[in-house]
Amino acid sequence: MLQRGKNGRTTHFSYICPTFKSMEEITKSLNFIEHIIEEDLEGSYSKNELRFRFPPEPNGYLHLGHASSICLNFGLGERYDAPVNLRFDDTNPAKEESAYVEAIKKDVAWMGFHWDKECYASDYFEQLYKWAVQLIKEGKAYVDSQSSEEMAKQKGSPTTPGIAGPYRNRSAEENLDLFERMKNGEFEEGVHVLRAKIDMESPNMLMRDPILYRVLHKAHHRTNTDWCIYPMYDWTHGQSDYLEQVSHSLCTLEFLPHRELYDWCLDQLVDKDKLRPKQREFARRNLSHTVVSKRKLLELVEEGVVSGWDDPRMPTISGLRRRGYTPEAIRNFADTVGIAKRENLVDVSLLEFHVREHLNRIAPRVMAVLDPLKVVITNYPEGSEEWLEAENNPGDDQAGSRQVPFSRELYIEKADFKEEANRKFFRLKLGGEVRLKNGYIIKAESCTKDTDGNIIEVQCTYDPKSKSGTGTEESLRKVKGTLHWVSVSHAIPARVNLYDRLFTDENPDGHKDKDFMEFVNTDSLETITAFLEPSLKNVKVGDRFQFQRLGYFNVDKESSSEQLVFNRTVTLRDTWAKIQQKK
Ligand code: ATP
Ligand code: MG
Repeated sequence: MLQRGKNGRTTHFSYICPTFKSMEEITKSLNFIEHIIEEDLEGSYSKNELRFRFPPEPNGYLHLGHASSICLNFGLGERYDAPVNLRFDDTNPAKEESAYVEAIKKDVAWMGFHWDKECYASDYFEQLYKWAVQLIKEGKAYVDSQSSEEMAKQKGSPTTPGIAGPYRNRSAEENLDLFERMKNGEFEEGVHVLRAKIDMESPNMLMRDPILYRVLHKAHHRTNTDWCIYPMYDWTHGQSDYLEQVSHSLCTLEFLPHRELYDWCLDQLVDKDKLRPKQREFARRNLSHTVVSKRKLLELVEEGVVSGWDDPRMPTISGLRRRGYTPEAIRNFADTVGIAKRENLVDVSLLEFHVREHLNRIAPRVMAVLDPLKVVITNYPEGSEEWLEAENNPGDDQAGSRQVPFSRELYIEKADFKEEANRKFFRLKLGGEVRLKNGYIIKAESCTKDTDGNIIEVQCTYDPKSKSGTGTEESLRKVKGTLHWVSVSHAIPARVNLYDRLFTDENPDGHKDKDFMEFVNTDSLETITAFLEPSLKNVKVGDRFQFQRLGYFNVDKESSSEQLVFNRTVTLRDTWAKIQQKK
């Protein structure tokens, strides 16, 4: 599914698909994980044995990287009609919270996916403990009582083998006794750990007696103080997969070296009659101009760079939702990028392309002026008003229409008027004509300036016979430009948040000598007062609109009937398509 650019360049752009794919095309092509599954189905697996899981750690909110894993796992579930579990990988009470669990559930559901079972690694603590005891009895695990520095020294390096520590050959009895006392809370953190006894000379460093359990005197959001020893990732993940009978455990590439350990752990326990899960890896998704790491996103929240996890500039699912993104846009984006075997940086403008594409289809059109300039129609009777018919979405027959008020005093955008301009300026200039969207043709006659020379008002005349939609010859008269506008006396002032990228650098995370925080874009939020057509008076939080000629906007959660608040989701300009055309 991933394509190289026509010129074969290997920049990140070469990994993104140059044209938008229809859903049909997306579902037809198989990614490499699906090829693995197809092969398995031809071999020993049957279709009804397929089961997947999405395994977030509840230590933060989900971000766009997770969206790729969600779409992969739940997408496989949909393709093979197989169950997908939502598994919380909750083995580190120091960082995990039930508030994160709730946020994650909300986000996955919002994306439109349904999980089969809601599972928690913490549900398996008892079983994992029993299995660890079994390992000790079989001489395959031991309690090590050294400091982490000593253990690290003995581990060697990728090029030099490790050596055995002094506790490696403790007797099973002593190990069982110590492990039980660890469990009973007799020891401080860091005094003892339980390690698997595998091979200190393995070429794979992870196989050099990895830690299985550590003491943590922290209350857990589900098991509270029942436990003060907690299993490590490697001792938890494969076993959880096994207990849930997950057939394909898909994780990101950094876990490739863990696969040997995943298999070793399973080898110690697997009942040959039961399905044995397999771990397969795909590349992490990285996105330009942002960071996708919960730890770093938490830093942005804690440092007050953003207002919270759901700040509309955040690459979190909740931030994107608040910004006005649709689940469809995020899913189409994930499907277009697909999954890769190598890490790549995907340009964020591809995501913007997808939200534009979807909102173009579904968002009702309205008029709003962000940077107002007053226009007075001098030949329009004072005190009069009329209501003009305006289509809600010309591309959608079902969308219907609404009425917009027209009167003698209007606002247009400042940038839409110049006293003088060349022939390429298709907006309003002195002596020139434009059509007001859904309304009349107007002609600029003169303008007024303040003492600083700023234009503060334009006086125009209108052609009363040119009203849109009346079918008369004058109404069909063509002029070069069409402007959006609002009637001054009817306009509703609203607070509008205009967002820009959160980081100035394309890859803020990719600098060895600089911290990502150094690249924070200090101008990523501009708040203005805009003027909206009155049909927007009763909008609800989350409603999405196209402000004509400006972009897509949605109603922020802080909005109320006294003070409307909108977020700009994305501008209308399609920079991604432009970049593609230039290639
Ligand atoms: P983070 O560094 O942001 O905490 P993580 O991998 O530790 O990421 P988890 O909650 O453990 O976060 O991840 C849940 C699942 O989502 C895992 O299978 C993980 O591999 C996947 N995932 C996380 N980040 C990405 C990403 N950038 N691209 C693709 N998949 C990801
Ligand atoms: Mg993690």
